[in-house]
Amino acid sequence: MHVILFDIDGTLIDTGGAGGAALLDAFRRLFGIDQPGRVQFSGRTDRAIGRDLFALHGLEDSEANWARLRQEYLVRLAEWLPRRKGFVLPGIGHLLERLSRLEHVAVGLLTGNLRDGARLKLQHYGLYHHFAFGGYGDEHFDRNHVAESALAAAYAHRSGQFQNGNFWVVGDTPLDIRCARWIKARILAVATGTHPRHELAAHEPDLLFDDLADVERFMSLVSEVEAPRR
Ligand SMILES: [Mg+2]
Repeated sequence: MHVILFDIDGTLIDTGGAGGAALLDAFRRLFGIDQPGRVQFSGRTDRAIGRDLFALHGLEDSEANWARLRQEYLVRLAEWLPRRKGFVLPGIGHLLERLSRLEHVAVGLLTGNLRDGARLKLQHYGLYHHFAFGGYGDEHFDRNHVAESALAAAYAHRSGQFQNGNFWVVGDTPLDIRCARWIKARILAVATGTHPRHELAAHEPDLLFDDLADVERFMSLVSEVEAPRR
C-alpha cells in the first residue's frame, strides 16, 4: 500500500497569486488596512499566516477575528481564482488519473490551505475529485501538525490498512520536507514552486524532481509493491 500526500500550491497548481490576493483583499475589507504588508506565505498554514497578519497590525488573534477573516477570504478566493491566470503544473492531470486507477495507492492532500480553500482551488482547476482525504491549515499553526492530521485522515479513509504502508509527501518547500520527516514519510520535493532546486537540495529530500512532467518516473515509485492484503 502506498499513501501519497500532495501539497497544493507550487506542487499541483499555480493559482497566479489568487490565494495571496484573496487573503490580502479580505484583510483590507475587514480591517480597513490598505497596505496589509507582507508575511511569509510559502509552505505555511493559513492559520499561521492569519496570526502573522493580525500581529503585524496590532489586531487580536482571537477566534472571532480568525473566523471573520476565514469567511471573507473564502468569498474573495472564489472571485480571485478566475481573475488570475493560473495553471495546473506539468504532468499533474495525467499523473493523478494514473494514480486513481491503482487499488494499492491512496492519494490525499497535505496542505496549509483551509479545507474549503483547498476545495475551491482544486475545483477551479478540475482536480478536486482525486482527493478523498487530507490534512488542512484551518487550525494548525505548524505544518508538522497538518501532516499528523493528514496521516490520521489517511488511516481513517482506508480503515488503518497500512501495515506495510509506504508514505510519501510531495511538496515544493523546505517546510514540506520538514513535515514529511516529522511523520516519518519519504519526501519527493519538486522545484515547481518558488524554491529553486539547489535550495530544496540543501534540505536533503529523498527525491528531488524539477517537475512532475515525467509521469512514468513517478509511477515507478509506486509500482514495486506487494499485493494488497486481503
Ligand atoms: Mg506549496
